[in-house]
Amino acid sequence: MHTPLCRHATGEPTELAAQAVRIGLAEIGFSEHGPMPRDDWDDWRLLETELDTYVEKVHQARRDHPQLTIKLALEVDFIPGLEGWIRELAGRHLWDYLIGAVHYVSDSWALDNPNDLSGWKNSTAFEVWTAYFDRLTLAAESGLFQTIAHPDLCKKFCFYPEEDCTPLFARFLNAVQKHGVAMEINTAGLRKDCREIYPGRQMVQMAWEAGVPITFGSDAHAPGEVGMNFVEAIALARSVGYTHWCRFTQRRREMVKF
Ligand SMILES: [Zn+2]
Ligand SMILES: [Zn+2]
Repeated sequence: MHTPLCRHATGEPTELAAQAVRIGLAEIGFSEHGPMPRDDWDDWRLLETELDTYVEKVHQARRDHPQLTIKLALEVDFIPGLEGWIRELAGRHLWDYLIGAVHYVSDSWALDNPNDLSGWKNSTAFEVWTAYFDRLTLAAESGLFQTIAHPDLCKKFCFYPEEDCTPLFARFLNAVQKHGVAMEINTAGLRKDCREIYPGRQMVQMAWEAGVPITFGSDAHAPGEVGMNFVEAIALARSVGYTHWCRFTQRRREMVKF
């Protein structure tokens, strides 16, 4: 879940926590878009100078809601070459988990940015999807992350390739399994043009067959989105065979039955 510090979300951590208590969740996690090596990289993330403020706000939410387990995390943009920076970020606080995310398929273009669809116009959908899954696979192999965010984010605006993407999914999922990483079932896709959970049923099915553990995320950017569509997410996971999800505490994984 996100906070106003990324400049495109509303609701302080303590307000999102209050909503979680209201709807009966036992555990939540904050994973703000983590800082980049330069604060002028883009305008939709935590600034490095605000990292401690973010952590303090999560601590405040914990103090306000002692009955709720609140995890401290970051959603970190994976870009090849930034591994050293990510490792440094990882050491700054006692993160419960780091979510590896690919938004940038080149150093300057984020494929999910509604204000910049240039990359979709300059390449075929298959080229973008291939570049996306190449980076996502590298993120899984990097050893930097406990789980991988919204695994088929590239479908957000419905630019679907005509080519078969099964090999891209398979390569990514095998890397996830082999490197002891998990994958997120993220309900935010239901709120986008694609109107589908990230990832779609085919990938969830393939993930189960590959032995990939899952986490559940609402990717809430507002209090009303906390735990949104979890009923559908759980039903999707169950329908392909999942019986457990995983949680992380100071980056150690634990399987939980559902
Ligand atoms: Zn966001
Ligand atoms: Zn994201």
